[in-house]
This record gives sequence, structure tokens and C-alpha cells, in this order.
Amino acid sequence: TALLTGKTAIITGAASARGLGKATALLFAEHGCRVAILDLDGDAAQAAANDLSGDGHIGLACDVTDRTACLKLASHVEAKFGAVDILVNNAGITQPLKLMEIAPENYDAVLDVNLRGTLYMSQALIPHMRARKSGSIVNMSSVSAQRGGGIFGGPHYSAAKAGILGLTKAMARELAPDNVRANAICPGFIDTDITAGKLTPEMRQMVLDGIPMGRAGEAKDVAGCALFLASDLSAYVTGSEVDVNGGSLIH
Ligand code: NAD
Repeated sequence: TALLTGKTAIITGAASARGLGKATALLFAEHGCRVAILDLDGDAAQAAANDLSGDGHIGLACDVTDRTACLKLASHVEAKFGAVDILVNNAGITQPLKLMEIAPENYDAVLDVNLRGTLYMSQALIPHMRARKSGSIVNMSSVSAQRGGGIFGGPHYSAAKAGILGLTKAMARELAPDNVRANAICPGFIDTDITAGKLTPEMRQMVLDGIPMGRAGEAKDVAGCALFLASDLSAYVTGSEVDVNGGSLIH
């Protein structure tokens, strides 16, 4: 049975063809959800929206680091859909730098898209969700937050994704009285374009050796978790971090 019939969602960074956001959008749409894809390139976002099953999906340009753009796009989608039930803060970038290589502009880029973007897009939708006494926010963190990297991203990426965990939990605490939930997903190594062609075969093998299930995750593995957190199946789950990593963090 469909889990999101009559619901609507905003998913950021979901234009990337093999990405976690796109896989999540596809699965949400299969479950009866109307989806707005927000990404840097409006045409790419609309093209991704056109791939989803069912009608009424939209794709729009939005840079999540731009607070004014977030506010504008949130009210646009609210007006267009009538209501927004779900926000997936998925937009993210990473850089494979060592600690001493992180320049100010690297720090700004990685912290801004991952952490500031998650804050701004959430702030843009929270008044609406609060007023409706209903909402589910799903934030994309990473196993890199929990393990201090170890896959691809540098320390600034780990810091940004760890920041998302703190932000998610604080948001969950503050929004709980209004029945708005916030949870984080911590994906492990998932085959997408964020690392495609950027790992040497040796690096890739080293990463795989650290995964008890012995394989990279697939984007749909993460989408399934996002579906659970977005739907009423998780009605009493808030402030949690869910590992989707093939066992990479068993301890
Ligand atoms: P991806 O590179 O395929 O997709 C990221 C998307 O974010 C792209 O479509 C890009 O255009 C968009 N984006 C970048 N900057 C943006 C901005 N300022 N505003 C709006 N959109 C922007 O990456 P992915 O692997 O699908 O990653 C999705 C999320 O999952 C990211 O937050 C990433 O850090 C996280 N994650 C990925 C993995 C993995 O192994 N793939 C593991 C852990 C966490």
C-alpha cells in the first residue's frame, strides 16, 4: 500500500540522476506523494521531476545557501501544492581534503551547502508546518559525522555532517510540541556521482573492506529509510539518527 497518499514533499539536491535525492523523489512519488525538487539548475530539477511517476511534480532552481531564495521557493511550493508535509534536506557537497589543506573557501563551501542550507530551508518551511501542526523533516548527515570521515570527505565535511546531527536533534526538541518531527539519516558509502570517478580502485577497495556487508549501498537503500521517516510509520520517531551503511558503524 502507498505510504504517502495525498502528501507533498520538498526534496533539495534531487536533480542528480543517480543521487540519493532523486532516488528518494522516485520512491516518494511511487507512494503517492507530490514532489517539488529544488536544485541549483532549474532545468535539471524540472527534468528530474518529469521522471517521477504520477502528475503534478515540479522542479525549481534554488541555491539552499541563499536564505531569500529558500523563503521564496518555500512559499511558492506551499501555494502551488496547498501544503507541504515533508522536507528532505539532501543537498550536499564534499571535498577530499586533509585537515591542513582546508582553506577558508573550502570551509565556507562545505559548511554552507550542508549545514547552513539545511538550516535555511528548514526555517523557510517551519512556520507553515507549525501552523498545520504536522510535518516531517529528514536531514542527510553521513557516517563521516560519526566516524570522523574514512570514506572520501575531509574533516570539514565530517564537521558539517556532525553539525547536521546536532541541528536535527535541537530542531526535533523544539518542534515536537507542534507535532513536527526531525530526523537524520547517516548513509555510509553509497554509489552516486558525489564520489563517482573520484576514488582510485585501491581507495574503493579499502572502503569496501570496512563494510561488513561487503558492498557499496545503493541510492534506493537510503530512499527506503527516507520513506519510513517521512511517513506515518515513524509517527513517534523524532530526533533520531538512522544508520544506512551496511554495518560500517557496528561498535
Ligand atoms: P550528488 O552529488 O549526486 O547530489 C547532490 C545534489 O545536491 C546535486 O544535484 C547538486 O546539484 C545539489 N546541490 C549542491 N549544492 C547545492 C545548493 N547550494 N543548493 C541546492 N542544491 C545543491 O550526491 P549524493 O551522493 O546524492 O548526496 C546526497 C546527500 O547525501 C548529500 O548531502 C551527501 O553529502 C549525502 N551523503 C552521500 C553519501 C554517499 O556515499 N553518496 C554518503 C553520506 C552522505
